[in-house]
Amino acid sequence: MEYEAVIGLEVHAELSTKSKIFCSCTTEFGGQPNTHCCPVCLGMPGTLPVLNRKAVEYTIKAGLATNCTISYFTKQDRKNYFYPDLPKGYQISQYDLPLCKNGYIEIETENGKKKIRINRIHLEEDAGKLVHSEYGYYSYVDYNRTGVPLIEIVSEPDISSAAEAKAYLEKLKAILQFIGVSDCKMEEGSLRADVNISIRPKGSKELGERTEMKNLNSFRAVYRAIEAEIARQIEVVKSGGTIERETRRWDDARGESYPMRSKEDAQDYRYFPEPDLPPLIIKEELVERLKKELPELPDARKQRYMMEYGLPEYDAGVLTSSKELSDFFEEAAKVSNNIKAISNWVMGDMLRILNERNLEVSQIPFPPAYLAKLVALLDKGVINGPTAKKVFEDMFDSGKDPEVIVKEQGLEVLNDESILLQVVEKVIEENPNSVADYKKGKKKAIGFLVGQAMKATKGKANPQLLNELLIKKLEE
Ligand SMILES: [Zn+2]
Repeated sequence: MEYEAVIGLEVHAELSTKSKIFCSCTTEFGGQPNTHCCPVCLGMPGTLPVLNRKAVEYTIKAGLATNCTISYFTKQDRKNYFYPDLPKGYQISQYDLPLCKNGYIEIETENGKKKIRINRIHLEEDAGKLVHSEYGYYSYVDYNRTGVPLIEIVSEPDISSAAEAKAYLEKLKAILQFIGVSDCKMEEGSLRADVNISIRPKGSKELGERTEMKNLNSFRAVYRAIEAEIARQIEVVKSGGTIERETRRWDDARGESYPMRSKEDAQDYRYFPEPDLPPLIIKEELVERLKKELPELPDARKQRYMMEYGLPEYDAGVLTSSKELSDFFEEAAKVSNNIKAISNWVMGDMLRILNERNLEVSQIPFPPAYLAKLVALLDKGVINGPTAKKVFEDMFDSGKDPEVIVKEQGLEVLNDESILLQVVEKVIEENPNSVADYKKGKKKAIGFLVGQAMKATKGKANPQLLNELLIKKLEE
């Protein structure tokens, strides 16, 4: 029997507000442990939370950018559970009246575009972080992250494969970055995903029992965890077993998951309305204003690149996969008259170098206009292709203007006939055998001679001119 997977994602994104959700502590990442917290975010008795207006606005923006309906009446609830990184013993979240619901985003799949529905987006506070000692004797708690505003974006189980889950996450990340509500730095934990997975016989409408994998913090981990879990579930069912509803932990180093807790001790969170915060009435004017503030979203920008610049859909998709990349491309394109070349450099050499050097787009040491200059130098024939690649690498080392690099290192294409003629004469003199071969009719011998001459000019000769001069000299 063939099986298909049914996958739903719960994505947590930390909002990039300056202060925390209920107090004025900084949300800055890092810092000495327990230096970014106060009695309010630690939930000390006698303190009262005050809701951060920006956090609400950011959540509404995320909802608008993902085609959600915004709730005009909403409230916050206490989700009760005890955990050492949550000192209050409850988390302030949203239960039955989330700020945003019933949205969707569109992804590209092998079989074309697909809509992934979003069930809800709600606002809540983040918890602290446990740091376990190496030998397991004790644990530390760092409350710096406690109270950082967080949105949870819950998808419907519309995802059918690891590739679709990755595409969904990438699109979601791009949208949140474009609208500026989260930096989505997975390595700093500001974007994390929980994955719900079940399988069922292909074509069946019924849902199978699902398992959940929590806190996956890289696209790679999400992809691998889903692949492994689908395979595990099929294996269990095929060998006559049944899938238990449980939470599993993914071990990325070992490439496998193991059970963490089962249905028996599943938590009963005992939600109830947060008594310290009044219900929230969202005014229509606010939603209208936020709608107007929304920038161009990735899909719209992709369409524009195809229309305005005539770029292929694939190129436009890669370029708009991240805001930083897209902005860099656009800045360079603005001052260039060879936009396809800019696109090729960004998608090709630039992404390769960033990857090799483990750099973010924001760490590129030169402005986008320098890429446009490099393309112009190449187009005008001042430098040739291999030299351009070398200059581009140099720009990542020094941050220098490509024109300066070319001047300093004397990399201009050698077009001077008198110099090239001297080189040609010298090569002919030093390679009598090849010259004899050529004169006997072995026309291929010219390749070797051109190679020698190029070498003598350190690759800078204009190859066409060199070829012409060499033939002329040999036929004399
Ligand atoms: Zn605080």
